[in-house]
Formats: sequence, structure tokens, C-alpha cells
Amino acid sequence: MKELRDLVRENVWKLKPYSSARDEFHGAASVFLDANENPWNPPYNRYPDPLQWKLKERIAELKGVEKESIFLGNGSDEAIDLVIRAFCEPALDGIVTITPSYGMYEVAAEVNNVECRKVPLDDCFGLDADAVLKVADEWTKVIFLCSPNNPSGNSLDRGAIYKILKNYEGIVVVDEAYIDFSAYPSFLRELAGFPNLIVLQTLSKAWGAAGIRLGMAFASPEIIALLNKIKYPYNINQLTQEKALELLSDEAVKNKQVREILAERDRLEKILAEPPFSYQVYPSDANFLLVNVGNADAVYDGLVRKGVVVRNRNNVTKCHGCLRITVGTPAEDNALLDALKGLRV
Ligand SMILES: *Cc1c(COP(=O)(O)O)cnc(C)c1O
Repeated sequence: MKELRDLVRENVWKLKPYSSARDEFHGAASVFLDANENPWNPPYNRYPDPLQWKLKERIAELKGVEKESIFLGNGSDEAIDLVIRAFCEPALDGIVTITPSYGMYEVAAEVNNVECRKVPLDDCFGLDADAVLKVADEWTKVIFLCSPNNPSGNSLDRGAIYKILKNYEGIVVVDEAYIDFSAYPSFLRELAGFPNLIVLQTLSKAWGAAGIRLGMAFASPEIIALLNKIKYPYNINQLTQEKALELLSDEAVKNKQVREILAERDRLEKILAEPPFSYQVYPSDANFLLVNVGNADAVYDGLVRKGVVVRNRNNVTKCHGCLRITVGTPAEDNALLDALKGLRV
């Protein structure tokens, strides 16, 4: 890896971050007259902890990482944006990602006027490490990978990810939004060996909390300190911090829901691959299935008319004819299957 100093934008490296009242005073006190808060309406009259230490302590324990290696964002989407803003000089630097994949890497790059180069996966949605390394040049600051990948559902080849981590001098983001559904281990355990690695996870999928907006980035304390420097001071609100602590206190609940979703995924996959459907169903390591239904637009419209909404991926690279179907409850999935059976397309 290049020196962090040489990868980070000059202005970000030099920046002196905003120092809030909650940053400047640490310790015990009984009278807080430092932040222009209203003294009534506790506890929500108070600004939340800007660095969310209590929540990070729990996450550190769950994930087996140091709390200084954790950044929390308003969804992983905030972390994606901040990584681009920390490392990529607008109109000069760029990122490289894969296609098809999660659309936010490109959107966040475009918002920041940062070039996004996309390397196609192969016809089985496999990752070609050499192709990615070849497309990255001296202005490429970040490579975004997603595994298990959205919308294809497969995990990327681990050997190919290692090859990129070893041979690329810049930052490598591995987005693991769906890791809890995967048969493969997280790259979190590789943080110690690869100072250029950033792993993204989220409470939005397996933890069942997309509504509270909590994303996690794991990286070296140096990279985490950079993200903290440029984030909004109070980016995670008090309600989210409290609800997240409550959810994270009981991992067994999440694990049970994941097991049920996986059983349901396997059931759905079998049924969709067999007559009368006989669709091509791509292997999934996540909580959704990419299914080639042939006339995807017509099937999509037909389902919507019956009140069932899936994601039409017909116009996405390598996904022609495909719908992305989230695994729901058994009742929801039966409703999908009934609606599909009634379609004539
Ligand atoms: C759903 C998803 C996320 C989650 O984003 P949040 O902002 O945390 O809700 C991140 N990455 C991928 C690939 C996803 O599919």
C-alpha cells in the first residue's frame, strides 16, 4: 500500500475538524450548560455521543475488532460517500468497481465528480482480478468490491479478492452487506494483514433494521480517524444508537431469522427452477435470488398488477431477462409464487 498521506486528499489531510461541545468536555458533571440545549425533555434534549462509543463497544465485542477500527454511518451509504470524499480529488481522481453491482458506488462517485470505471463480471458473475488491476491507474484511489454481490447474489472468488488486496496500492473496499447470509467468512479477519482494506457491513439486511440507518465501516484506526474527521459531528442520532444497542444485544434473534430466510431461499430457489416455472435461478449467497424469467418487463408488470413488487434488473449489465427477488416470509413467498403462476407471458 502507498503511504496513507499520499492517498488522502491534501485538504482532508490538513483539515482541522469541527470540535463540538461533546468533543471538548469528557468526564463526569451534573450540570451541562455547554451546548445550548433546552434543559427539559430528557433524554432527547441532549446531543448524542458524536463517536458512539457505547455502540462501538458492543460491535467490537460482536465482531472481534478494536473499537478504534469502527466507523458508524447513516447507512453504509454514508461510508461509501465519505471514503470517496476522503481519497478522491474531484475532476482528477477515480474509483474502479465491478458491474453489475450496487449502484451507490457510481452515484457517490458522480456526485463528487469522481470518475467511475466499471469492470464487467464474467457470465457467471465471477471476478477477474487481473482485469480490475489493469483498469486501475495512478489516479484510481479506491476499488469497490461487493461480496456477496448485489444483484447477482454470489460471493466473489476469495482468491481474486486477495489478489487485488495484495497487488493494488490504493484502498480496497469490500462491501459485505449480505455477509450474514453467506457460507463464507467475512474479510474482517484480514484487516490486520491488509492496511488498505475497508470492510462495510450494515444493520439494514440481516439485522432487520433498514429503517434506523446504521452502517458500519471497519478499517485501520488511521483510516477510521480520517472518516471521523470529515463526517457530520452527530451523524448517528440518539434514537438509532439506542435501538441499535437493543438489537445488537441479542444476536440469537438475528441468527434465527437468518436461518429461516436461508431455508426459505432454498425452497424458493427449487420451486422457481422446476416446472411449471423452469426459470434459470442464479446461485445465491444472500437473502435474494436473481432469476431469469425471460420477458422480465412483462413478468414484472404482471406481478405489480397483483400487488407483488420485485426488482426489475432487465436493463442492468448481464442481467437481461432477470428479476431480483428478495426472500420474504413463507406467506409472502407463496403470494409471489401464486401471482407468478397466474401470469400468462
Ligand atoms: C443494501 C445494501 C447496502 C446497505 O446500505 P445501507 O445504507 O446500510 O442501508 C450496502 N451495500 C449493498 C451492496 C447493499 O445491497
